[in-house]
Amino acid sequence: MKLTNKIIEGVVTEVAGEDVLPLVKALKNRKNISEFKLAENIAKEVNETRNMLYRLYDANLVSFIRKKDKKKGWYIYYWTFNSRRVKDLFSQLKKRKLGNLKNRLKREEGSNFFSCQDTCMRLDFEQATGFNYKCPECGALMYEENNTEKIESIKKEVLVLEKELAA
Ligand SMILES: [Zn+2]
Repeated sequence: MKLTNKIIEGVVTEVAGEDVLPLVKALKNRKNISEFKLAENIAKEVNETRNMLYRLYDANLVSFIRKKDKKKGWYIYYWTFNSRRVKDLFSQLKKRKLGNLKNRLKREEGSNFFSCQDTCMRLDFEQATGFNYKCPECGALMYEENNTEKIESIKKEVLVLEKELAA
């Protein structure tokens, strides 16, 4: 799997939030950059930048070393982006998505669904029976929905994901 910018951005957004993207851009393909430099680079306060770095750190997407500043006597943290970790996260997220899709598929295949003409709500067989097939929103009669297309489209998504995961 080639680690494209699109993959990196997708994974980072999902695990740490979209607002860290400029920070990741500042970190990428370099090593040991001080948090002050990073803050300056993305034009944010150091505290805010640290907060973002910790979010990335929680997902193991960055590592750091610290060095004592001889003049000032305090520690400065230098950060490095861990791009290899993106690959692991990428397949983890895909596996989770695949699991969710399979559950949805099971639900779609295992029940009949009902809705009124305006599709205010979508109820499964038991729920619809509970309302005597009358839409709880508008009171109109509910019809059994043909979910063949929905099932087919979920199956397609499952296939795509399985293929991607096998690659
Ligand atoms: Zn309705």
